[in-house]
Amino acid sequence: MNIIVLFGPPGSGKGTQAEILAKKFQLKHVSTGDLFRYNMKNDTKLGLDAKSYIDNGKLVPDELTTEMLKDELQRNSDQKGFILDGYPRTTSQAEALDVLLKELFQAEVNVTLALYVDDEVLVQRILKRSLDSGRSDDADENIIRNRIKEYYEKTAIVSDYYKDQNKLVELKGEGSIEEITRSLSEEIEKVV
Ligand code: ADP
Repeated sequence: MNIIVLFGPPGSGKGTQAEILAKKFQLKHVSTGDLFRYNMKNDTKLGLDAKSYIDNGKLVPDELTTEMLKDELQRNSDQKGFILDGYPRTTSQAEALDVLLKELFQAEVNVTLALYVDDEVLVQRILKRSLDSGRSDDADENIIRNRIKEYYEKTAIVSDYYKDQNKLVELKGEGSIEEITRSLSEEIEKVV
């Protein structure tokens, strides 16, 4: 079982790249952001619980997020691997992921690919995306800046967790989509 983690701030292109790479390497794309949006759209209890955090640009509490991820991994246990987009976002989620992967699949993270993009480029990309994403958390610059702030306060540190295990590769997230896919693919090919 291959597990690739895509890591980076909001707007860094994780979602776009995860979708392309999932097809290319026949991995199941799991996006916690997409799972939350699906739950909000369908007014599930989880969706209602998550909404107030998401609409303020905050992270959803670890417990809710990890439970949702566990369900999704279990539901897809027939897959030959996963590309994770948006999880883990805290060190406690990174630890929970290790436990889950071992418990469910006797597996571990192969590599974490971190995309770096300048903050102002992130804000502009997300505002542009808001024109057709319809996402409430994309349309307001204050919420966007809050998401970027949450990233630096809570998420950026997760890269140290993987760096300490020699599983972190940092890549530039600016350039054409194709160029970035190429550099991510080269790294995936080394580990799968
Ligand atoms: P982006 O990376 O562009 O901010 P996502 O679609 O990955 O967008 O996530 C949208 C929102 O969903 C986040 O701002 C956060 O509120 C919530 N979320 C997604 N993944 C997690 C996670 N692993 N832990 C906590 N909250 C999460």
